Amino acid sequence: MDFNDYMSLDFSILYRCMHKYYDIALTNYDISSGQVSFLTILNKNEGITLAELANICSFDKGTVTKGIQKLEEKGYVIEQNSTDKRAKLLYLTSKAKSIMSDLYMIKRNWWEFITKEVDDESLLKYQNVQNLLVKQAKSYLEATNTDDIKFFGLQKTTLLDYPGKLASTIFTGGCNFCCPFCQNSDLVYLKEGLKEISENEILTFLNSRKKILDGICISGGEPLLHKGLIPFIKKVKEMGLLVKLDTNGFLYERLKEIVDLKLVDYVAMDIKNSPSKYSITSGVDNLDLEPIKKSVELLKSSPVDYEFRTTIVKEFHDESSIREIGLWLRGAKRYFLQNFRNDEFVINKNLHSLDINTMNKFKEILKNDILEVELRGV
Ligand code: SF4
Repeated sequence: MDFNDYMSLDFSILYRCMHKYYDIALTNYDISSGQVSFLTILNKNEGITLAELANICSFDKGTVTKGIQKLEEKGYVIEQNSTDKRAKLLYLTSKAKSIMSDLYMIKRNWWEFITKEVDDESLLKYQNVQNLLVKQAKSYLEATNTDDIKFFGLQKTTLLDYPGKLASTIFTGGCNFCCPFCQNSDLVYLKEGLKEISENEILTFLNSRKKILDGICISGGEPLLHKGLIPFIKKVKEMGLLVKLDTNGFLYERLKEIVDLKLVDYVAMDIKNSPSKYSITSGVDNLDLEPIKKSVELLKSSPVDYEFRTTIVKEFHDESSIREIGLWLRGAKRYFLQNFRNDEFVINKNLHSLDINTMNKFKEILKNDILEVELRGV
């Protein structure tokens, strides 16, 4: 074990011992050691908000909210409206004030006990070092933007993914579906060892190619799962590139936001199957179809260019499911039928494609309801 390991371990031991001490010392007060921190901070800063409290003690807002709720239930804290009513202000109750000197004494006793063999000069040095460590640790968390979008694949040039355009395709990781025919199982399961490509690397690459490329295609996985997608697309649009988005359409609200903000130039939305077979084809039990239906209507009625597309799998699609899809999408502008391809990355390798005659028959059925129907990749 090297020096750093010892240091980290010592912090952890100190922390756990302190909590055990507090658990015993606080038995009569029905509060936890974490709540002592909230009470002592509030005693010095009455009238602060939850967000300010979370910031002072470097806890996430959810943890502080739960802790404060418990203290309210126990009668130690009350919330009051601020004058502008945008945030509640936190105050200690008289019950809390009546125990504060006990809590300070409990805190002090612990400190006295663990430092009794350390002289003042060393303690002062330790305090300075500890302050530096805390500052450094906080700066790491502040610099790490959890909303940054991470990518797991880049196809530098393609003429196939964005109809009529020279594009790069980038792949996000993770998906909310688990379609048995999915050819991107690595992206769905985020396999260990999958190389991550940072947003910065992608932006640097796109910047170097922006004069050659027409646009980019953002595929997945399911790109809409990522909170950082919108800021990322804004940066890409600033380079003057077109943006195509591939989506399964389940996250309707996010799709609507992106379409309303005019951040995408083309949307390719998967239609996994007819509504009655959607769950089994998407690999999600009892899938709620409402958001998908809303996404379909959104694209049909919006000015954004779009296509619907279905990967046809022998085990899932037949004439009746194709007729159902046609009725559902009636009036849609463009629809592609793609034949299933089995390879090492497919989730369920026991599936099969259909022959070209059947694919053409499906195409003819759909032409009754949809303006432009094409086969792709057959
Ligand atoms: S096919 Fe698309 S929606 Fe289905 S699991 Fe794969 S990435 Fe997700």
